[in-house]
Order: sequence, then C-alpha cells, then structure tokens
Amino acid sequence: MKSTPALLGLCFDEYSSYFPGTAKAPPLIREAFLCDASNLWSETGIDLGASGIYHDEGDMVPAPGLDFFLEIEQKVHSLLERGFRPLTLGGDHSITFPLLRAFHRHYPNLAILHIDAHPDLNHEFQGNPLSHACPFARIMEAGLARQLVQVGIRTMTGHQLEQARKFGVEVMDMRNWRDDFVPVFNAPVYISIDMDGLDPAFAPGVSHREPGGLSTRQVLRLIQSIEAEVIGADVVEFNPQMDPSGMTAGVAAKLVKELMGKMLEPNG
Ligand code: MN
Ligand code: MN
Repeated sequence: MKSTPALLGLCFDEYSSYFPGTAKAPPLIREAFLCDASNLWSETGIDLGASGIYHDEGDMVPAPGLDFFLEIEQKVHSLLERGFRPLTLGGDHSITFPLLRAFHRHYPNLAILHIDAHPDLNHEFQGNPLSHACPFARIMEAGLARQLVQVGIRTMTGHQLEQARKFGVEVMDMRNWRDDFVPVFNAPVYISIDMDGLDPAFAPGVSHREPGGLSTRQVLRLIQSIEAEVIGADVVEFNPQMDPSGMTAGVAAKLVKELMGKMLEPNG
C-alpha cells in the first residue's frame, strides 16, 4: 500500500508565460496511457493493468474564490497521508511549488531530479514570482529540497546561473550531456519532468520548443537508473494545442508508465 502510485491531473495554465494550453493535458495523457495501441506494462516488468495497482484521484480545476495552489497542497498532503505516491499530470510547471510544499511535510530530506530545457530558477518572470519560469527558485529559497539535480538544461541565463550557485543546484547542462550520466541521491527522490526537456523532435507538443534536447530513451534511462526511493513525480508542460499528431501525449504516457514502474519496484 505504501508504494501505490496515485494519478492526479492538474488542469492549470494560468502561470504560463507564452502559450496557454497545458490545462487541457491531463485527460489526454490518461487517454494515451490507457490506449490499446500499447499495453500497460512498464519496461521493467510491472503490470500496471493489474487490479488496484494504482489509484486515480481524477482531475483538479481552479475554482473561483479559492487559492488553487493551497488546494493542490492540501490534496497532495492528504494523498501522502493515505500512503500514496502522488504522480501529477500538469498543467504548467508552476504547480511543482505547491506540490513540493506538500511533499516536504512528509519527506523533509527529499531530493529532486528536474528534467527540463529551462532551469526555472528566475526570481520573478514578467512580474510574476509564481510563474512557470520560477518554481525552483521558490522551492530552494523555502528549503523544500535538500538537493536539486537539473538535467537537459540548454537555456541558462546569467541571472539563473547566479541563482543556481546561490542555491547549490547541480546543473547537468545539455552541452555536457553524457549517455552514462547517472544522478546520485542519498535521500528519497521526487522527479519533475517538463516535457520540453525532451528534444522537440520527440515531444513537439510543448509551448517552448527548444532544440538540442534529450531523447525519449535518454529520459527513460534516467528514470530507470535511479537507485533511491521515488516518492512522487510530475509530468508538466505538455501542450495539446502544439501536438496535432497526438504523439507527445503518447510520450508523456510512456514516461508515466516508467515512473509508476519505478515507484512499484519491489525494493523501490
Ligand atoms: Mn521548460
Ligand atoms: Mn519547466
């Protein structure tokens, strides 16, 4: 029970800076996850079609007059209290801040593996400190993670490099990528995957297409290579409006399968 993954969709794109659309992602990732074009086995041999092997908490949408970030934090806190490992489908990347506020209450020593084209370490962006360009600045200044490893980065700026140094972020720049890179963690790990960390050749359905990124296989291998316990994850920034062929939904669903497989590993 302790390791049961719980899917939760967050239909939110209000803190996107360029194209909205990521709010429509969760149902499409779920549909691709369940699509009969594939099966429900992780590559690591876990049958995700087995009865009760994961829980689906459904989707959350912002409600007028309510603080959606507080709603997210409370929902995920309750899932963690019930013993689940929340696996959130975004939504823009701003949601990772309230998610980590909940995770930190249960795992004060947690580490984060963050896969993204962008470091998302801006102090503020277009006047918004909660922008999807800022969540890891908020997370690190609030002390919500003891370690942050960023992979896939290929848009570093002077300001964000200063922020990375200030917060002690371990940045694996894409230009220094090595296929044998394995992130090392000595604490429970939370995985945050921005779909634009993948190369747009593999995942075109994102708001900020940045060439020179990771392949689907490289991201799968990163997930599979983690030796520490994976306590939760998010898959964010899939934008269906930029994905006419539907292929990016399929990539997101594939990542969800391997994330669940990792959470369900016998010694995971
Ligand atoms: Mn990004
Ligand atoms: Mn991001």
